[in-house]
This record gives sequence, C-alpha cells and structure tokens, in this order.
Amino acid sequence: MAVGQKLYEGKAKILYATEDPNILLTHFKDDATAFNAQKKGSITGKGEFNCAISTHLFKLMEANGIPTHFIDRTFPNEMRVKSVKILPLEVVVRNIAAGSLCQQTGLKLGTILTPPLVEFYYKNDELGDPLLTFDRLRVLDLATPDQVDQLIELASRINQILTDFFQQCGITLVDFKLEFGCVSSVGQSANHTGQIILADEISPDTCRLWNQAESDPNKRVMDKDRFRRDLGNVEDAYRQVMERVLQQTI
Ligand code: UDP
Repeated sequence: MAVGQKLYEGKAKILYATEDPNILLTHFKDDATAFNAQKKGSITGKGEFNCAISTHLFKLMEANGIPTHFIDRTFPNEMRVKSVKILPLEVVVRNIAAGSLCQQTGLKLGTILTPPLVEFYYKNDELGDPLLTFDRLRVLDLATPDQVDQLIELASRINQILTDFFQQCGITLVDFKLEFGCVSSVGQSANHTGQIILADEISPDTCRLWNQAESDPNKRVMDKDRFRRDLGNVEDAYRQVMERVLQQTI
C-alpha cells in the first residue's frame, strides 16, 4: 500500500500515515537503544524478527478476546495498525524480579512475584520514564480511575495468556511492558476516550524472556538484556524467540 507522511520516528519504530486516516503503517527498525537512548546500536534482522513475533502475539491476543491495534503484516518488517491515541503510560507486568525492580528495591534477581506486579510508568523521556503511584496518575490526569482499573485487568489477562504461551515455547516470561491506545469513535474529539486497545509491540525488545533449557544466568537471556549488558549473540537470541513463537499454532 502507498506509504504516506512520516508521522513519528521512535527508537525502534517509524509510524507512517496511509491513504486511510484510520490506518497507520508501522515500520520496525533494526536500531536498538537502551538506558534512555544513552546506549545505541543495531541488531541485524531485529525489525523483521520483532514484526513477526508481534504479529503472532497480537493474533494470539485477538484469539483470546484482547482487542489490539493490529490489522495485518504487509512486509517482513511492516504492519498495518489502527490509528489510536496512545496513553502516555508504560504498563509493566512482572512475574519475576529483574531490572529496575531489583535496582530500586534490593529484591534479589529471580525472586518469584506472587501475585504478579502491575506497575505504571510515565512515558516521558525527558523525565526518564518515572514510576507512577495511583495518586500521581490522578494528579497528572494521565488516565481516569476507570481506565486504570481497565488497564490492570487487561494487563493481568495478557500476562496469563503470554505466560502460558511462552511456557509452551520453553521460555519463562519474566516481565514485559505494554502500551495501550484509545479508539475514538466518529465525531469524538476528546483525546483519550473510547475503547482501550493494546498497541505498540510485544517482542524481545519489550519482554524479559529466559530460555528454560539454560540454567546459566547469562546464557538463558533471550531478550534485549543481551544488548543492554553486552552478552553477545543478540541476533541469535531474537531469531530463536521468533522460531519458537512461530512454531506454536494459535
Ligand atoms: N521496558 C520497555 N521499555 C522501557 C522500559 C522497560 O520495553 O522503556 C521493558 C523491559 O524490556 C522489561 C520490562 O519492561 O521487559 C521491565 O523493565 P525495567 O523496569 O526492569 O527497566 P529496565 O531498567 O530493565 O529498562
């Protein structure tokens, strides 16, 4: 389909307009960044791997009744998505303690979290994506209390579906980040009203994934931590995730 104006270029994706105002085109890049873009690099094939993985996982979500922005995959590293107003929030779900949770709380890496944690971060690079409390969410008017309830419910259901799916792939889902958008109905002018649907991507860029066949804490890593922590074999890890994900029928 004809590609229109570039609307937004992020760290890992570019968003283009199409001839239909309700449809956007997402181009997945090989570029990789970490630590709020202080570390930059490229992972060969990442755009294609993440587009394929996200496509499969969005289809899995739809099959389980979770609405998403996904329409179809038009090219190995491109998908068409519904145009939504993205909520300026990162919703992080944690099954096992890792990353910033360990750094900020002293919890030991690998601590099982029962029930899983659902956290909200403010999507704001200048502020370094700070962790939000419910009161801060309210003061900043980032989501209504009803939307917060919906997001927690959706994130918890998504976690259950993804955890079970990755288990079948021999992969442990440690934690992941989600982004949601609001679909405005015709004639609606308000920004963040309407149905909340899952947007962005679900990929090794946004999830921590541990290979269950490896016990070594470095060898088991199949996600962006390989890039963040210079563990090597980043492309192989992403490809391995894609192959295992695509092997599972939905
Ligand atoms: N995450 C993400 N984008 C961000 C921040 C986090 O996709 O801007 C993902 C990250 O890959 C991990 C989860 O969210 O799967 C939790 O990340 P954490 O808060 O531990 O942050 P880190 O310091 O590891 O980026």
